[in-house]
Parts: sequence; structure tokens; C-alpha cells
Amino acid sequence: NMLEIIIIEALSDNYIYLLRNEENKITSVIDPGEAAPIIKFLDNKGWDLDEIVNTHHHHDHIGGNLELKKIYNSKLIAPIYEKERISGIDTYASDSENIYIAGINTKVFHTPGHTLGHVCFYMKDEKCLFSGDTLFYLGCGRVFEGTMEQMWTSLLKLRSLPDDTLVYCGHEYTLSNAKFCNHLDPDNNILKTAYTKIKNLRERGLSTIPFELGKEKQINPFLRADQKEFTNSIGLQSNHAYDSFGAIRQQKDNF
Ligand code: ZN
Ligand code: FE
Repeated sequence: NMLEIIIIEALSDNYIYLLRNEENKITSVIDPGEAAPIIKFLDNKGWDLDEIVNTHHHHDHIGGNLELKKIYNSKLIAPIYEKERISGIDTYASDSENIYIAGINTKVFHTPGHTLGHVCFYMKDEKCLFSGDTLFYLGCGRVFEGTMEQMWTSLLKLRSLPDDTLVYCGHEYTLSNAKFCNHLDPDNNILKTAYTKIKNLRERGLSTIPFELGKEKQINPFLRADQKEFTNSIGLQSNHAYDSFGAIRQQKDNF
């Protein structure tokens, strides 16, 4: 692979992704919630920062934008739908469009729900997805701005991607997500195996990211709201998948 993805921990549980393309020497950062850890890493490597990319307007994803822009004169790429809420955007990202991030062809998916303008970035050739606060390992983002139906529709877009896609999400929420999933779906053996693996990683202070989308389709309850056998097994009888999704989301909010 010509693309290196470096995972940088920030704030309390955020992940910032630094992308380095050794072929063209382009360096990009996704969702810099703070600038300091990025500056430190770049200094150490002697790299410049060509691009800053945002998935949505929350401060823990954009907090480092302006400081980084000032130091490196980087180009800021952010969702067109959040242009009133993110300052200093140079290039807009909009749904279904193909853009270049670190010189890699990237497809933009508009995924409203967590915020109305949230987008995810998919690199087909690299088999990776940057899902921001839309899809988490064994979870999904809280639905702050959109409706449950919008969030469900957004998750369906991500679910349609190939099984071998590796997902890089915005937060390390995996262990608490796994506890909820295990409580909801105690007989799922694939989930149990994942839970054990996750517990081990977190006990050693290691990241659980990235995760495999294919496996996620079998164990993440938020991606299974249209599977009758599953929703019935957890006591839901809604006519619409988005209502089942909403019920699961609400249960997690109160867990
Ligand atoms: Zn957020
Ligand atoms: Fe966040």
C-alpha cells in the first residue's frame, strides 16, 4: 500500500487520522480535534501538512483546524452542508462526489443523523472508510440533529460497502459499546468472541481501530434493524426498520 494511516489519540477518547502518501509525499489529517499532537508528530517526521479534512462540525473534530492551517497553510476540505459552522473551508465535499485525499481517490457519502451535514470518506482502492461519528465499532453516533430515519438511511449507505472494508471511526467507544451489544444480544457467538478480543486490547491500553465492516454487519445491532429474526429476538415488533433502529438507539442512550 502506498498509503500509511497513523492513528493519533486526542482529547479524552477521540481519534485523529494522519494519512501519509509516500509516493507523492502528501500528508493529510482527518478530524484534528486538537492541533498539538499533530504538530508534535509532524515535527518529529519532518513532514508538512497539505490537507485537513473534516467529517462534521463538532469541536472535537475541528478544534485544531485553524491553528494547523496557520502553521502549514494546509487546504481545508469539509462538508458543504456544514459551511456555516466550519470556518476556513477551501474545498467543499458533497455527496457521491469523488475527491482526492492524500492523492487517493475518495468517495464522499453524506450521512446525516449525528449532525445534518456529516459526511464519511471511502477509499475503494485502499479498502478503508473514515466514518467520523456516524459508525462506531459496535455502535453508531448519537442522533443529535437528524431523525432516526435519516441516521438509519445513512448507516445503510455504509453497510452497502464491501465486507473487507476497514473502518476508522472518530472515537474509542468500543468497550462500552460491546457491553451494550452483549447485553442486547447475549447468544451471538461472533459478538462474544469480539467482546473478549476488545476487552483484552483495552486492558493493555491498545486501540480497537480499525475494524472490519463485514464482521460488523453480523454483530453491530445498529446495522441489523431490518433483520426481523434479530429484532424479534430482542423484543421489537416495528413495521419500519428505522423504528427498530430508533428503539435500539434509545436503549443505548439510556444504558
Ligand atoms: Zn460528533
Ligand atoms: Fe465526536
